Amino acid sequence: MSASAAAEFLPFTRPEIDEETIAGVVEVLRSGWLTTGPWNARFEQALSEYFGGRTVRAFNSGTVTMEIALRMMGVGAGDEVITTPLSWVATANVILAVGARPVFVDVDPATRNLDLRQVEAAIGPATKVLLPVHLAGLPCDLDALYDIAARRGLRVLEDAAQAIGSSWRGRRVGSFGDFASFSFHPNKNATSIEGGCLVLPADADPELAERYRLQGVRRFGLDGMDVDLVGGKANLTDVAARVGWGQLQRVEAFNARRRELARLYFEAADAAGLGARSVELPPREFADSNWHMFQVVLPARAPRAGVMQALKDRGIGSGVHYPPIHLFSLYRNLGFAPGDFPQAERIGAGILTLPLFPAMRDGDVERVLRELSAVLREFGV
Ligand SMILES: *Cc1c(COP(=O)(O)O)cnc(C)c1O
Repeated sequence: MSASAAAEFLPFTRPEIDEETIAGVVEVLRSGWLTTGPWNARFEQALSEYFGGRTVRAFNSGTVTMEIALRMMGVGAGDEVITTPLSWVATANVILAVGARPVFVDVDPATRNLDLRQVEAAIGPATKVLLPVHLAGLPCDLDALYDIAARRGLRVLEDAAQAIGSSWRGRRVGSFGDFASFSFHPNKNATSIEGGCLVLPADADPELAERYRLQGVRRFGLDGMDVDLVGGKANLTDVAARVGWGQLQRVEAFNARRRELARLYFEAADAAGLGARSVELPPREFADSNWHMFQVVLPARAPRAGVMQALKDRGIGSGVHYPPIHLFSLYRNLGFAPGDFPQAERIGAGILTLPLFPAMRDGDVERVLRELSAVLREFGV
């Protein structure tokens, strides 16, 4: 058996839960209080401190977090929200969920984020919100974004699901700006199993977020209760909050390790000459990204499914983040079509997420690049 065949399977991501957190979860389970309670409050407080003292509320997913943010902004039928087609489908689904219309703008091929130069042309009288995504943790140009929002009188919801610990010009994403939504799905840089949080601007009412989070309920005194809006069921359990709190203590260390691994990826990719072999590497940005993912874009002559299968046979996991949203049936039925957003379509067809998670060893990066390089040669790349 060759060395690589004997090596353990390397997934593209893996959460890392420490023993202190596991013991803490056991304590919550024994405490007699399982759902939203003291640990949710403690998690929200810790998140608030992490985001520079801003108000934060926790939810049971990053998706519902964004939907509630849109509701809080009063977005609904007849309104338009500008967003990117190159994201997890949740980003656009929440726009439809509140009854509004997604207006996609193509991505910048260099950053793979919303092309802000094209955003202004897409703004019309029905536009209410700009909904950018910090894909793979690389922040959008937040100076340019907030400049457009201010000049055109628009609100912003940053889909920062992948961007905990990223920063823009030295300021942590979420510590400034309008609404920002984060996800704690297990694939993200910090997890609460499932979960999310919303950073609220000063003019937003946290009590309204809480009502949308739990059936619209408003309580008075010891026994009074009223309901005057349709809320959902989006509260975070204390078991999940305990996991999230434990992760938040370590997220800076996780992100530092991710940055190191990304640096090693670039070294190995350069040594293998991937760029010259027409494989697109991510932007070489170390200060601002939390390196949620390390993604290459394959040239068309290396069909992605074949590359993924060959990597899998060599013990290496990989992922696709993401197929362009506007090409899903739901969105085609709304009138979107192939050719609408050529950069997102080209990148979406070839993008491949390579393994990157804090527990990876330096040698794992070399192994991924060695195998990827060999597989690409088989495809004539
Ligand atoms: C993960 C993710 C979401 C959704 O988060 P969930 O917690 O899974 O609901 C939304 N947008 C982006 C860009 C994501 O990566």
